[in-house]
Amino acid sequence: MTATTDAQRSVLIVGAGLSGAVVGRALADAGWAVQIIDSRAHIAGNCYTARDADTGVLVHVYGPHIFHTDDADVWAYVNRHTTFRAFKNRVKTTSQGAVYALPINLHTINQFYGKTFGPADAQAFLEAQGDASITDPQTFEEQALRFVGPDLYEAFFKGYTEKQWGCAPSELPASILKRLPVRFNYEDDYFAHRFQGMPEDGYTPMVASILDHQGITVTLSTTFTPDMARGHTHVFWSGALDGYFDFRLGRLGYRTLDFEAFSGVGDYQGCAVMNYGDRDVPYTRITEHKHFSPWESHDSTVCCREFSRAAGPEDVPYYPIRLVEERALLGDYVALAQACEGATFLGRLGTYRYLDMDVTIREAMDAAEAFLARGGHLPAFCVDPLTGAKVI
Ligand SMILES: Cc1cc2nc3c(=O)[nH]c(=O)nc-3n(C[C@H](O)[C@H](O)[C@H](O)COP(=O)(O)OP(=O)(O)OC[C@H]3O[C@@H](n4cnc5c(N)ncnc54)[C@H](O)[C@@H]3O)c2cc1C
Repeated sequence: MTATTDAQRSVLIVGAGLSGAVVGRALADAGWAVQIIDSRAHIAGNCYTARDADTGVLVHVYGPHIFHTDDADVWAYVNRHTTFRAFKNRVKTTSQGAVYALPINLHTINQFYGKTFGPADAQAFLEAQGDASITDPQTFEEQALRFVGPDLYEAFFKGYTEKQWGCAPSELPASILKRLPVRFNYEDDYFAHRFQGMPEDGYTPMVASILDHQGITVTLSTTFTPDMARGHTHVFWSGALDGYFDFRLGRLGYRTLDFEAFSGVGDYQGCAVMNYGDRDVPYTRITEHKHFSPWESHDSTVCCREFSRAAGPEDVPYYPIRLVEERALLGDYVALAQACEGATFLGRLGTYRYLDMDVTIREAMDAAEAFLARGGHLPAFCVDPLTGAKVI
């Protein structure tokens, strides 16, 4: 039997976000030497939070992040690494000169139509608004018109979606509006998950705690180059899938976000997230960060107007577009990745999927477990980027 050398027990992880941190910690706990690099000057990837230097307000630097899950293991995991405070996301939207609660609920319907419906009457009323001639909705627009009718579609979905995705809802698949996003009661909690909360001091200390292991070395402000993989048994890649191949087949499409920050005193909007449904308002929403930490007290406030546009090569990739064109290119990159030895692609960029934090953590935990169970071997994907189906 040959002795195991250090190199045989060492991995390189690209990305110090949740994917990289969770895999790294599991492997370090199992005795592997873990080298993590990130091109950014900070850990925590897109969940990164930092205090505003002038006001002390905790800012969600890459957009608002609310933790919500039904996965008890994931909830236990994050609670081992930080203290969570109770937090419910109660989103409002400004549309056609009025403010409503989202998701559309009984209050929204009654306010919008000037009615006093109970649940059954509201449901019957809305069914009558829907376009029954659309029997098999194919597009986002058809789906919305079928189930909520033209008034609510115009007020709450059309303008917002055009701004968010940069195309008409008639060009988007019906699957984007998966379930009928309407509640016939007064429940206005944005998420329906069993466990919800906000890390007391933000996500960065939580990720720092995950990374806090003597077997883990983190090097920031360092972009991957192929020579860095030398001496490591395996590479876990949570950067962009097409980036691993130097974009040689072209670029997968993303939406990026621009944040226009402004600050002031007092309370700007009275809630954490205010959407703007009207097409003529150029931004999609305003986030007022201090409302994500309601247990803190700040005289000042920091807000961000959020604008969405197509990502260029130098922009931060936020939302994968995944329309027909991108899916074809994705298939080609998946084939390239599957032909690679010794690299596994993870997370929202590595698998080109929108992933909530809890799903990201679950997939990273499962990948690490499979890697260890297979004696340090893993194929390119544990989850199929095209279908989202678990393959390992
Ligand atoms: C606007 C927005 C809001 C969101 N809100 C929520 C929410 O409310 N709740 C929720 O559960 N989830 C939310 N999410 C999802 C959440 O951000 C992701 O689940 C999470 O960030 C995924 O972690 P990750 O490690 O896979 O990717 P990332 O956090 O993107 O980490 C990948 C890291 O890899 C690094 N990297 C990339 N390429 C290279 C390279 N070549 N060399 C070195 N380093 C590299 C990057 O710098 C980055 O730090 C939101 C996402 C967005 C876009």
